[in-house]
Amino acid sequence: MTRIGIIGGGQLGMFICQAAKDFGIKTSIFSKEKDFSAKKFCDSFFIGDFKDENILNEFIESADYFTIETENIPFEFLNSIHKKKKVYPEPKIVRICQNRLIEKEFLNSINGVKTANFFSINKFTDFNASIKKLNYKGILKTCEFGYDGKGQYKIFDKNINQIKKLNLNNFILEEFLDFKLEISVIVCKGKNKIISYPVVRNIHESSILRETIYPADISDKTKEKATKLALRIAEEMNLYGILAIEMFVMKNDDILINELAPRPHNSGHWTLDFCETSQFQNLIHTIINGSPKSPKPTGNCKMINVIGNDFLNKDDLKEKYKFYDYLKEEIKPFRKMGHYTFRN
Ligand code: ADP
Ligand code: MG
Repeated sequence: MTRIGIIGGGQLGMFICQAAKDFGIKTSIFSKEKDFSAKKFCDSFFIGDFKDENILNEFIESADYFTIETENIPFEFLNSIHKKKKVYPEPKIVRICQNRLIEKEFLNSINGVKTANFFSINKFTDFNASIKKLNYKGILKTCEFGYDGKGQYKIFDKNINQIKKLNLNNFILEEFLDFKLEISVIVCKGKNKIISYPVVRNIHESSILRETIYPADISDKTKEKATKLALRIAEEMNLYGILAIEMFVMKNDDILINELAPRPHNSGHWTLDFCETSQFQNLIHTIINGSPKSPKPTGNCKMINVIGNDFLNKDDLKEKYKFYDYLKEEIKPFRKMGHYTFRN
């Protein structure tokens, strides 16, 4: 029986385990946390630190193929696995996606691909010189380990006292974009085939994804452009696995790439209910036989995230919509606790 090892046991890991189970594939999870969403759904789990070699070796023994549910994994850890068994996507792809600076440099090296203007920041004087060039309108982000807007500071004027207090090592400063809307495209690529999910629109609140709408309410031309860009990036990366591409549509319909995620993505949760093949199933198809399937959407829909205290109203939601509980131990502000989907 085929076995897949997943690094990380959050909701994405949980959905990967569920998809694997439907195909009769066994799963094992490596988690840093004692309690994690995927615990009930995996066949085995290993709890420990990324530096613990004994656990790492047991984890490597536990599966034939490996994948990730977060990009925030030390490169060395992934590489140790990849030397013995295959990790999808490869560690060198994860390395690009886990550092905003490397990611933006990679994206801009591709002909026809653009991002916001950006500056590498390693000390306050770097920041001071760069924010001036941006007319004091920018967004400062840690290069690594940020998610859901964590580690980000918006700057709208010359009042930069809060920035002075930071230890500005390994940061990136981006121009603040006055975009029209945000979209994303998910691509799966194996040795035999590449597919893309249709373009969806994403609405963020406090820099956290709030809603995903399928289909995106943009012109067919812009959809085509976004899809081409996504496929191009996956080809240039030599992707084998899954990649989500977040994009900004500007007021003149130009597309700038925001960021990449080498794993299933929150903006693809609608595919669990409204596609013949979900992003999680397609990750498995890609890993096992190199051939993702055509997604075949089955209807217009919306996905809404349940964040922090929204969770207290989950019983109302359950009655009206299809509700997914991420089984988190504790409600925390800005924590993704679950999501619901409905036909739109
Ligand atoms: P995360 O890894 O936390 O998702 P993102 O870079 O995607 O980080 O930022 C989260 C959200 O913040 C984006 O979806 C967008 O709404 C907003 N944002 C990020 N970068 C910019 C930018 N350069 N200009 C304007 N808004 C931005
Ligand atoms: Mg993002």
